[in-house]
Amino acid sequence: ASTWAGVPAGPPDPILGVTEAFKANTSPKKINLGVGAYRDEAGKPYILPSVKKAEELLAGKNDKEYLPITGLSDFTSLAAKLAYGADSALLKDGRIAVTQSISGTGALRIGGAFFERHYPGPKVIYLPTPTWGNHIPIFRDSGIEVRRYRYFTPGEGVGLDWKGAVEDLKNAQEGAIVLLHACAHNPTGIDPTQEQWKELSEVVKSKKLFPFFDMAYQGFASGDTTRDAFAPRYFVEQGHQIALCQSFAKNMGLYGERVGAFSLTTESKEEKARVDSQLKIIIRPLYSNPPVHGARIAATILNDPKLNAQWESEVKGMAERIIEMRSVLYEKLTNELKTPGDWSHIKSQIGMFSFTGLSPAQTKALAEKAHIYMTADGRISMAGLNSHNVGYFAESVDKAVR
Ligand code: PMP
Repeated sequence: ASTWAGVPAGPPDPILGVTEAFKANTSPKKINLGVGAYRDEAGKPYILPSVKKAEELLAGKNDKEYLPITGLSDFTSLAAKLAYGADSALLKDGRIAVTQSISGTGALRIGGAFFERHYPGPKVIYLPTPTWGNHIPIFRDSGIEVRRYRYFTPGEGVGLDWKGAVEDLKNAQEGAIVLLHACAHNPTGIDPTQEQWKELSEVVKSKKLFPFFDMAYQGFASGDTTRDAFAPRYFVEQGHQIALCQSFAKNMGLYGERVGAFSLTTESKEEKARVDSQLKIIIRPLYSNPPVHGARIAATILNDPKLNAQWESEVKGMAERIIEMRSVLYEKLTNELKTPGDWSHIKSQIGMFSFTGLSPAQTKALAEKAHIYMTADGRISMAGLNSHNVGYFAESVDKAVR
């Protein structure tokens, strides 16, 4: 018998599995609203002009040498500047330990490994319910115990379950870790207000929780990278030490290039150096050092004031197209089709996703009858909609809910 005869077949990935089903469908009407990758008005993948420009500037200057273990230092310092702000005191003092990572997922996984090895408090992380599906196995595989806090309760309006979130964090184990989506919460599209972030900071402080930020969508929520960095910057200002995961997949459209960063704020330069040394010890046996091309693109953009300004306006353009689709979809459902139910959440939610409230049975019907694919929790990637398919989508939803 084969050595692997006892290996059981695992379930398909709940998000990437949707793309598989979409690819297998041959209908010209098919729409993929599963994966969170930006699509332009023609439904096509979008390479940002600033990225193309950066690649032109890099052409011919690219060697294929190894990067250091923690990546391209031009990139990591510019990534930290983007996240923490150009005027960040921590940055000026050299107190941010930062490493390049294999996009946001890799940042989370390095973070998980670092906390598993060095966090002095309980190795327990509280994740919001719901959260990005991959958060759970990332921390579980890192050896961190996963617990949950309420964030959104289906059927109870379309807002944040603020009372539930605060209550659960107040009852959390003292000194544990808490994962916070910095902006554009995935999958709900609902973020705390700035006032609520201020209150959260107090709750986190009172329970000595460690705030672990996942910022996969800086710029995508509001169209403004500074505004979207409010939460981690505010927590730093309030004296919290934080962990921060960054991804350039969405905001630079560098999905397959795998460009990200993981950082920890420290008390002193000397502490930063110790933390850096341990990040290297974690990364070296995992993958030795990160890929170089995407980091060079991101660094080129962030380093050139003109190109950076162009990029910021392109991020804004993507965010605005999504916001426009939200209002078109809302209008069609509410005013044109008079679809039963309240659809105002489509407009009020932010970021790449909308949590539609469609049931698993309805999402299944949409796939089978209308060739429209989304995750079973009713999450749709708004970026998959455009003026050509939004009408068909709205009519199909209308049929599915009647
Ligand atoms: N965190 C969240 C909340 C996400 O939605 C994503 C992407 N779907 C990621 C992290 C990581 O994505 P990537 O590894 O492609 O940067």
